[in-house]
Order: sequence, then C-alpha cells, then structure tokens
Amino acid sequence: MNPSMKQVMVIGGGISGLSAAVDLARLGMTVILVENSGSLGGHAAQLSCKAAERCVACGACMVEEKIRQATGDANIQVHLNAGIEKVDRRKRFEVTLKQDLEMQHIEVDAILMASGFAPFHPVNKPYGYGRFENVMTTLELDRMLRRSGTVKRPSDAEFPRNMAFIQCVGSRDSTLDNLWCSKICCGAALRMARCIQSRQPGMEATFFYIDVQNFGKNFHTYYADTQQQVRMIRSIPADVLKTADDRLKLSYFDPDTQAYQETVFDMVILSIGLMPSESTRNLAAMLNIDMDGFAYARKTPIPLPKGVFAAGTVLEPMSIAESVLSAGKAASDIFHYLETSSQI
Ligand SMILES: Cc1cc2nc3c(=O)[nH]c(=O)nc-3n(C[C@H](O)[C@H](O)[C@H](O)COP(=O)(O)OP(=O)(O)OC[C@H]3O[C@@H](n4cnc5c(N)ncnc54)[C@H](O)[C@@H]3O)c2cc1C
Ligand code: SF4
Ligand code: SF4
Repeated sequence: MNPSMKQVMVIGGGISGLSAAVDLARLGMTVILVENSGSLGGHAAQLSCKAAERCVACGACMVEEKIRQATGDANIQVHLNAGIEKVDRRKRFEVTLKQDLEMQHIEVDAILMASGFAPFHPVNKPYGYGRFENVMTTLELDRMLRRSGTVKRPSDAEFPRNMAFIQCVGSRDSTLDNLWCSKICCGAALRMARCIQSRQPGMEATFFYIDVQNFGKNFHTYYADTQQQVRMIRSIPADVLKTADDRLKLSYFDPDTQAYQETVFDMVILSIGLMPSESTRNLAAMLNIDMDGFAYARKTPIPLPKGVFAAGTVLEPMSIAESVLSAGKAASDIFHYLETSSQI
C-alpha cells in the first residue's frame, strides 16, 4: 500500500503534534490528532507576544497559524478531550480512544508521541510560591501578559516598581536530580523583563542566574543591549521572605562585593523548567517504551518500538521553533517507515 493511503495517530495537540499533523497530511496521510484537553496549542498557546519596540522572535505567534492549518485540513481528524486507554499491537496498532466518556476503536499504521512536557511545580522550593501572592512562575506571568498586556501585583493590583527573576528553578538542580538545562527559560525570562519594561517604563528588573543560555541567532546583540536594561546578578537567592509592607526580601551572595546582600522587590518571578510529564510516562507504559525514570536525563535516545515515533518536548527541552523542526523530522521518518514497510 502507498504510504499516502495510511493512517497515523498523533498524540498531543501542542505545536509539535500540530506541526507533525500538518506535515503528514501534506504527504497525503490521514491523521488522527488526539488531544487531552479541550483546545489545541498546548503550552505555546498560553504564551504572550514579547515584542518590545520590535519583534523579538519568541515564536509564540507560530501556534495560531498551525492551529488554523490543522483544523482546516480535511486529512486531519481532531479529537479533543480525548485520551488513549489501550494500545494493542497486531498487524496495525489497535488503539482504544476515550473521548467524552465514549470509547472508540481506531486502527492506525504508526503512532507519533507529541505529548510534550510538564512545567516544574515550585511549591517545595524556598521561594514562597503558593504562600506569597506576588511570587509567580514565568508561565503565570506569561498568561497575565497575554490576558491584559501589562503586569500588576496579584495582592493589590498595583504596577510593580521592581521585579526579580530567579533562573533555573527546577532545572540544573542536583538536589532534585534534575541535571538538565531547560534551554528556553533564560531567553523567555529576559524577553518578558524587556517587554514589561517597554510597556511599564521605570520598572527595574533584576535577573538572578547561574549562567545565561544562548537563545537565538541575534543573541549577542540582544544580550549586550539587555545588560544595559536589566541588572544581572550571577547568584541564585537562598530564600524569599515577606516584609511587613507586603514586599519580598531576597537574600543572596553577591559575587561583586563577595558578601551576603538583601534586596526588596515588589514581585518575584520563578523561571520554572521543563520536566518529563506523568502523561508521557503513562503513554510510554502502554506502548512498552522504557523511559528509564527521567527521560530528559538519558544520555542515549529513548528506544522506540517499530512504528512508534516521538517529536518535540517529549524528547527533551526545546523551543517552539525547534519543536516545529523536530516534528518535521518525525513526519519524514514516519513517511519513510511506511514506505519501507509497505514494500515488504
Ligand atoms: C514559561 C515558559 C515560557 C516559554 N517561552 C517560550 C518562548 O518564549 N519561546 C519558545 O520558543 N518557547 C518557549 N517555551 C517553550 C514552549 O512552550 C515549548 O517549546 C512548546 O510548548 C513545546 O510544544 P510541544 O507540543 O512539544 O509540547 P506541549 O506544549 O506541552 O504540548 C503537548 C500537548 O499534548 C497534550 N497531551 C499530553 N499528554 C497527552 C495524552 N496522553 N493524550 C493526548 N494529549 C496529550 C497536552 O495537553 C498538550 O496540548 C516556554 C515554556 C515555558 C514553560
Ligand atoms: S515572534 Fe514573538 S515577538 Fe515576534 S510577533 Fe510573534 S509573538 Fe510577537
Ligand atoms: S535556560 Fe537558563 S534558566 Fe533555563 S535551565 Fe538553562 S540556564 Fe537555567
């Protein structure tokens, strides 16, 4: 059978799953796109445009276009609020799909895992997340920017005069055995800081970091300019405490003065990392894939059974643009796999 007459299931309707679905459909295959939640776009659909004076190439607007392409393609069947219950491997994959309490049995020739990542939950870090209203994650800040275009303190709806960004929260953390760099969070946090400064003039941003991950082809010029606008302190604060006047006090070792310092901020933003998700682990178990605990910490690629492929942040932390590339490669691998297997 020609590969263009075959049926592929894509699990996950984030930017990776959407891009792969569009590419597979263009190659003539029928795609069953399964998404757990009630909408397409995954995490990328929650991010805001970070343009300050001009576009900063954050990639957030790519997802709208992919949703439009995927939902407008007659070769892509979208199943929202749907999850995989069971997969049996016979000649083809027999998948039991549960959608809105109804069970369906669908046969497919290949499966693409594009189930993405889970954002790190910082409740156990000593930064007061969940206890102090004005401590937020970068994802929550991004959603606030997307919703209203500006940032106000959750506790009193005032514009913050200064904000601290704490990097590597959940990533590069040996106490958690999360040794990987999440790759996107330096760029995302600096773009957000610059974007807020351009919309809320006078807001002072301080960036606490281990080192800055290169993000994008214009990194050097952008970063040199950013260092003029954002105070960079190469240190990770020990803790965050609330002051009597509802502000947040950070204590940290200052490498310039070689002494411990305390500084008070209106808001503290935690740059949370990308983690392997529980949903992917469950999916992997159904597909007999050995995830070896933490997939992101693996030195070798995850061994996938024949006919099963993976794309995007299910594999490792990556940006939106990298997820699109990863999806393109997976679509091409699936096409070649189906082409070869149909000749046997
Ligand atoms: C705070 C933050 C800021 C970021 N900022 C940027 C930025 O500025 N620029 C940039 O390029 N990148 C940024 N990123 C990274 C970006 O979010 C990812 O690159 C992108 O979302 C990866 O897409 P994905 O499709 O691989 O995964 P996801 O976005 O996680 O999508 C996975 C999808 O699969 C679904 N799913 C999961 N399990 C199942 C299942 N079992 N069955 C069915 N569906 C399932 C989920 O509901 C979800 O819709 C940021 C990330 C964070 C956390
Ligand atoms: S790439 Fe980012 S900054 Fe540029 S227009 Fe799109 S969303 Fe805005
Ligand atoms: S991208 Fe930056 S903030 Fe994120 S884990 Fe790597 S070094 Fe830390």
